[in-house]
Order: sequence, then C-alpha cells, then structure tokens
Amino acid sequence: MEFGSKLNKVIILNLSRKLPLLIKKIRFLISCCTLCGNVCQQHQLICQYCQNDLPYFKEHLIGFDLLSWPAIKQALPKTSFDHLFSLAPYQWPFSTWINQLKYHGKTELAELLAYLLAQRWKQYLTSLDKELKPKEILVLSVPLHVTKWQERGFNQAHLIAQYFAKQLNYNYQPELLLRDKITQTQVGKSGAERRKNLANAFNINPEFFDELAGHVVLIDDVVTTGTTANEICRLLKKRGVQTITLLSICLALPN
Ligand SMILES: [Zn+2]
Repeated sequence: MEFGSKLNKVIILNLSRKLPLLIKKIRFLISCCTLCGNVCQQHQLICQYCQNDLPYFKEHLIGFDLLSWPAIKQALPKTSFDHLFSLAPYQWPFSTWINQLKYHGKTELAELLAYLLAQRWKQYLTSLDKELKPKEILVLSVPLHVTKWQERGFNQAHLIAQYFAKQLNYNYQPELLLRDKITQTQVGKSGAERRKNLANAFNINPEFFDELAGHVVLIDDVVTTGTTANEICRLLKKRGVQTITLLSICLALPN
C-alpha cells in the first residue's frame, strides 16, 4: 500500500513537471499561422515563412534608427525622443493586426506584435557599439485616459509593452505615466492643433520618480506625427532621463 502511494506520488510529480511542456507541444501542433494557415514553428500565430516575409523597414538600407533616415528626419524635424524604432510602415499585415487588436479585442495579437518587436530589437542591440544592459532600461507605454480605457477595456500599447519587457527582462512601469486630460482625436488636426490638444494631457506619477532610468523605451502601437511621444518625452527629460527610444509597431507618416 505504502509502495503504491509512493509510486502514485512519483507519477503525479512527473506528470506535473511534464504537463506544461506537453501542453506547449500540443498547442504548437494544433496552431496554425494567422496569415497562411500553415503549421507554426516558433510562435503560435505566425509560421517561419510568413515571419521572414514581413514587410519590415529594411535596416540594411536605412538602419534600425529611423531618425537617421533623412526623409523621416525631415517629416519629424523636432523630436524630444532620441531614437525611433518601428517595425514597418503602416501596411498589411501590421495595419490589420493593429486594427483587430484595438477595435475587435483580439488581444492575443498584442503578444504576437511584442514578440516580433522583441526579435527585431535584439537584432538592433547587436548592431550597437555600446552594450545596453537590461537594468539600465525602463520600459513605458503611452497611456490611455481612464475613460477611453473603460470604453475599450484595455490599452493596446500597455499590452504590447508588457509582453515586450517580459521577453527582454526589462523593467516595465505601467503606472509611471498618467493621462489626466481627455483629448480629442488627433486625426485631421494640424501640428499646432495637435500640440494644443495634448498640452498638459500627461503627467508623471511622483510615486515612481525613483524608478526613472537613464534610458527609457517608450512604446506606442502607431507613430504618426510624434506629437504624443514628444509631449511625454519632454516631461521625462525634465525629470533627468538622458535618452529615449520611441518604439512602435508602425510608422504612419502624415501625407
Ligand atoms: Zn504563414
């Protein structure tokens, strides 16, 4: 009897250890690519072939930091952030994924987008002269006003930032930035109107002043004129942040 119960314990212990791995394997076997329907290898929502074929900005031609590209520097002449890193122009499939995430509640896509962002970010890090240690980096996300958060039920930038930071072992502080003012949509507004609309919209929560690091990575889903990021970056720099990289899935420059 005693032998039997010991055996049961061993079996249960072994099963509990192996079960998560088994579930992971099964999930991969039954998962298929959101783009082509083929079996996935490294991520449950995209196969390796489609991942290799994504319309990323071509870093071998323009570099990872988009601000080093004259055409973009001209479109965004006054930035309070130091580097701009985006995966791709606002086009399929990224535009569709962002749309499904924001307006159709497909929150699993935030994890996919963060995964792709982290993969590219790792490539960027290897191209830098200086090593950026994880503890020197603080990840933040562009906050939504609480009213909008309640309407949508989540903040897509927060979800992406959360997964991104987790994959890279970075500190993420979702409560450091506050959005105090309800702003109108920025779509269709001129540069001056956008700045006026966003004036005093953001704040830094004094409870987290101590957590500000030398290098901040600010995450948003789409960057257009950079006005929102500029407002936030000005605040962060006033508080002693030295360099800021604006990280987004897409860059959709206004025409
Ligand atoms: Zn595929």
